[in-house]
Amino acid sequence: MIEYRFSPVTEPVRLTSSTFEGEIGRRLQAVTEQWILPTPDANPAILEMFRERDRKPLTHKIPWAGEFAGKYLTHSALIYAITGDPKLEAHLKKFAHDLAALQAADGYLGPWATPYQLGIHGQSPNGGTTWDLWGHYHAIVGLLTWYEISGDEEAFACARRIGDMLCNVFLGTGRRVYEAERYEMNMAVYHGLLLLYRHTGEKRYFDLAAEVEKDFETPPAGDYIRGPLNGLKFHETPQPRWESLHSILGIVERYFLDGGDDYRTAFSRLWWSMLEGDRHNNGGFSSGERATGNPYDIYAIETCCTVAWTAMTLDMLRLEGDSIIADELEFTLFNSGLGLMSPSGRWVTYDTPMDGRRIASAHAIVFQARPASSELNCCSVNGPRILGMVKDWALTRNTDGISVNYYGPCTLSFETTSANRVVITQETDYPRESKVTLRISPDHAEEFTLALRIPHWSERTSVIVNGVAVEGVVSGQYLKLKRKWQASDTIEIDFDFRLHYWVHGNGYDYADYEAEWQVFGPEDADAPLPSEGDTPKRTIQSVGGHLDAGLRSFTSRVSRACFVTNVHSERDDILPIIFSAGARAEVFVNDEKVYAGSLVSDGPDTTLRQMRLELPLRPGNNKVMLVVIMSKPHETLTATIGRGESGKDYPLASIYRGPLLLAFDHRYNTMDAESIPALDAATINMERVEPSIEFAPWLLVSCRDANGETLNLCDFASAGMTGNVYRSWLNVIGAKEAAFTAGNPLRSTRPA
Ligand SMILES: [Zn+2]
Repeated sequence: MIEYRFSPVTEPVRLTSSTFEGEIGRRLQAVTEQWILPTPDANPAILEMFRERDRKPLTHKIPWAGEFAGKYLTHSALIYAITGDPKLEAHLKKFAHDLAALQAADGYLGPWATPYQLGIHGQSPNGGTTWDLWGHYHAIVGLLTWYEISGDEEAFACARRIGDMLCNVFLGTGRRVYEAERYEMNMAVYHGLLLLYRHTGEKRYFDLAAEVEKDFETPPAGDYIRGPLNGLKFHETPQPRWESLHSILGIVERYFLDGGDDYRTAFSRLWWSMLEGDRHNNGGFSSGERATGNPYDIYAIETCCTVAWTAMTLDMLRLEGDSIIADELEFTLFNSGLGLMSPSGRWVTYDTPMDGRRIASAHAIVFQARPASSELNCCSVNGPRILGMVKDWALTRNTDGISVNYYGPCTLSFETTSANRVVITQETDYPRESKVTLRISPDHAEEFTLALRIPHWSERTSVIVNGVAVEGVVSGQYLKLKRKWQASDTIEIDFDFRLHYWVHGNGYDYADYEAEWQVFGPEDADAPLPSEGDTPKRTIQSVGGHLDAGLRSFTSRVSRACFVTNVHSERDDILPIIFSAGARAEVFVNDEKVYAGSLVSDGPDTTLRQMRLELPLRPGNNKVMLVVIMSKPHETLTATIGRGESGKDYPLASIYRGPLLLAFDHRYNTMDAESIPALDAATINMERVEPSIEFAPWLLVSCRDANGETLNLCDFASAGMTGNVYRSWLNVIGAKEAAFTAGNPLRSTRPA
C-alpha cells in the first residue's frame, strides 16, 4: 500500500471487533443466511458463465453479466468484515478461489467468448454490447475488498492480473478504453486502476488511469472534472447516468494519491449537486437510472444508484469530514437502504419509490434472469452493500481523535494510536427512540477527543457526560469531547425527536381544471414531433381535473403519443400540472424541453405515482406538450394530466421522526391510500405503539388527523413490506417550506 500524498480528512476506524444489534444486526444475519450463503448454489451461473465462456453454442447474456461475481463479492466481504461469521469466511474464501481459478492466462476474467472480449473487436454474439470493462472493474473492486479484509493473496494477485491485462491491451497500444462500447460504464476502470496503484505502487496502473481520464472530455463521455469546474451540476453533465458515479469515485482517489485542487473541487461540487437535485425524501438517489435535478421526480429509484450514491458519500466523508455528510449515510441506511431489501434478507428491489410498491428485482427486471441465474441482476448482487458499508462510517478517525457517526445498539472495539484498546457500547433503541447511552471502556485511561455527530435535524440535543450536562451542543456539527477517558465513563444523549417536515412546494387543487388536449399518435417514436397546423388524431377533454388517456400501442415498435394544449396567461406565471405515465415522458413548454424522465415499466402500478411539475408560462399563448414514449411494443400508453390551482392550503410533506421517514401503509389503517386524511403539523401528537401483528414494522406511530381520526404511520423501510401500497408524501397543513441549504439538505422544518 503506498502512502497518499494528500491524506483524507477522516478515515474509517479499523474495528478490531464489532457487534451490531437491533434491526441492523438482524438484517446482517438475515442477508447472510437468506442471500449470501445460498446464492452461488441457487445461481451457479454466477461463476459458470466464466467457465463456459468459449463453449458453443455461445449463450445469450445480458451485457453486464460479468459484474455479478464482483458485486456479490464486494458486499459479501463487507458484511463478513462486520460479523466475522466463520461460515461466511469459509464460503467467501472458496468463492474468491473459484473466481480466481476462472481467470484466463492473459488476465481476462469476463464471461465473453474470445472474439468478443473487452469490446475491442466489436459487438457481442447477440449483436449487442458486452460492458466487459465494467464487469472487470467490479471484479477488481470485489477482489480488493476481499483482500483488504481477509489478506487473501490469491485474490490480490487475481486483481493485479486484471490490471496487467488492461495495461497490455490499452496502454501505449493506440487503443483507448473510451472506444470500447458504452463510455460511461467502461471508464469506471479508472477507479479500479487507481485502487490497484494504491495497493501496489505499480506506475503503469496510474498511467493508464491518467489516459482514461483524458477521455473524460471526449463526447459523449461525462466531462466529470471540467464540467463541475465550469459550474455544471451533475444532472447537467453529458453522462448523468448512475454508472458515472463509479468513474467519479476515481477522481477523489486521484486527489488523495496525487493532489490537485481541481480533483477535490470537482468531486465536492458533483456530490453537493447530487445531494441537492437527486437525493430523494427517502435517501434514495436518482430517477429513471439517472440524475434529473429534481428530487420529486417519480421515476424509478434504482437500488444500484443508491448503492453508488452511498459509496460516493463515504468518499465525500473522507474528503471533507463534515458531520452533515455522515448524516446522509445514516439517513440513506435507515430509510431507502433498509427499504430496498426484504426484511427477510432474501431479495432486494430494483426500484424503491417514494410512493408506490416494492417489487423484488427478480420480478421487476426479470429480463436479466438466465438459466441457472434466476435471481441474479444488477441490483440483487449490489443492494446489501449499503448495509456492509456501515463499518466504514460507524466510527471514523481524524487528526483530532475518534468520531462516533453511527447510533444504534452495538459494541465496537478499536485501538487508539498508542495501541490502547477501547470498547464503545451503545445501549439504546435508536432510531426508534431518542435516547442513546454510550459506555466508553479503554483498557487503560487515555486522553483523546471523542466527537459525537449531532445530526442537523436535532435542534435541541442534550448530552450528559458522567452526570454533567455539556454546554454548547450545536446541531449539524461534531461535539468534541476531549478528556482522559477511563473505564465506566458514560455519555447520555437525547436527540430532538420532535417531528420535522420536508414540504414539497405549494398546495394545488388539481380537481377543478378543464382543458382540451389534442392527441397525436400513438405512432413510431422516431416520427417528427407534431408542429403547428398538424391535425391531431383526436381531442380529449379533461373533466373535473384529471385526464386519463389510456392508449394501446399499435405497432410492434417503440410507440409515442403527444398531448398538446394551449394555455393563455396574462403574465409570467407557472402552470402546475400532475401526471403519471407508464413509460418514459418528456414535457415541452413552447417547444423547449422542461422535463424528461424514464421508468422501466413495472405494470399497472406505475399509475400510483404522480409527477408534479411547475411549468413556466410567459404572457400570451403557451404551447404545452406532454410526450409519452413506450419502450416496449403492445403495451398501454397512459397519461393522466391535471392542472392545479394555487392557494390551497394542503401542501405535500414528508414527515420525519429523528432520522426516520414516516409512511402510510394501509395494513395499519382502516382507510385506503386514496383517502388518507390531512394532518395538522401544529397540533399533531405522534405516539409510538407496539404492533402485535405478523410482519410487524420496525416502528409504528399513531396520531390523530386534522378531523380527530386515528392515523397510523410506520417507518419507510417497513412500509409496503407485504406488497401493498405505501405513501411517503402526505397532506400536511401548517408545515413550512424551506430551501435546500448545506446546513439543512433535508429542507426540513418544525412548526413555530
Ligand atoms: Zn441495478
